[in-house]
Amino acid sequence: MHVCFSHLADRGEEYWHIHTMLSVYHCPDLHCHSHYSDGTLSPADLARQAHAQGVDLWALTDHDTLAGQAEARASTQALGLAWVSGVEVSAGFLGQTIHVVGLGVDVRHPGLQALLAANRASRGPRAQAMAAGLAAQGIPNAYTGALRHAQDPARLSRTHFARYLVEIGRCRSVAEVFRHYLVPGRPGYAPHQWASLSACVEQIRAAGGVAVLAHPARYKLPALQVQLLFDTFAEHGGQGIEVVTSAHTPTQVQQYAAVARERGWAVSCGSDFHSPDESRYLLGALAPLPGRLQPVWDLLRERIDQSGSPAAGT
Ligand SMILES: [Zn+2]
Ligand SMILES: [Zn+2]
Repeated sequence: MHVCFSHLADRGEEYWHIHTMLSVYHCPDLHCHSHYSDGTLSPADLARQAHAQGVDLWALTDHDTLAGQAEARASTQALGLAWVSGVEVSAGFLGQTIHVVGLGVDVRHPGLQALLAANRASRGPRAQAMAAGLAAQGIPNAYTGALRHAQDPARLSRTHFARYLVEIGRCRSVAEVFRHYLVPGRPGYAPHQWASLSACVEQIRAAGGVAVLAHPARYKLPALQVQLLFDTFAEHGGQGIEVVTSAHTPTQVQQYAAVARERGWAVSCGSDFHSPDESRYLLGALAPLPGRLQPVWDLLRERIDQSGSPAAGT
């Protein structure tokens, strides 16, 4: 944020006019994943791709880990790309998994770190349950196979299982594996005990961040529960919602823009990029945010690192 003080002495009056100019970004991408969670690229490679594709404000938002943040920040500083810290936290709500993106968080905050560590620790047992379900369908050794893709049990996700099933020729794409095996009601799905939605939002706020409800169209909740989700998110300090994301159709973009206006939430945008082979959209390849909405970066002015970047416009 730039603050200009203009002394209007020529009018014979002794007062200061304070004019606030908000930073404007033309191509922000505030949601993507590196190999520290279920992406395939390093933070440095992602930063380079983001920069090459014209992204002018970038956040890496790995699932339940801040391990890639230092590398992401160093890479953006070298490239002159504005950066803000990020994480995508898995949250439990009415038996469903909800994703909350935390932007501008203090990456050393003990409360947030503890919550993320607990979420990571529960990934191993959940993966064992998923593997047992797949074994019952005649797909043995899925745990070992998925682990080879993840490297670390604390990172194991459905995406790693999906990559293994594609590798062994069970399905042709990650999306197909999800549809047939890895969603509720399918044999490779196992429910998960994540931290509660309220705890996730509260810890993001305690760490100085802005909590953003990720890709809302992806949750399969009845209408009343959706309202309860929005109410709970707001009550505990949620301030933003992803409106433009690769998971949303143009109609859904308008639908969640209306939710943002109604609730007074800031809006965010992100590709949710995971891999050049699997992602439908490249970093930064996003439609513009609909008008008359407050962009989430207005709430992150103190948290955006622009060191080395050209002024982000005015
Ligand atoms: Zn997500
Ligand atoms: Zn994501």
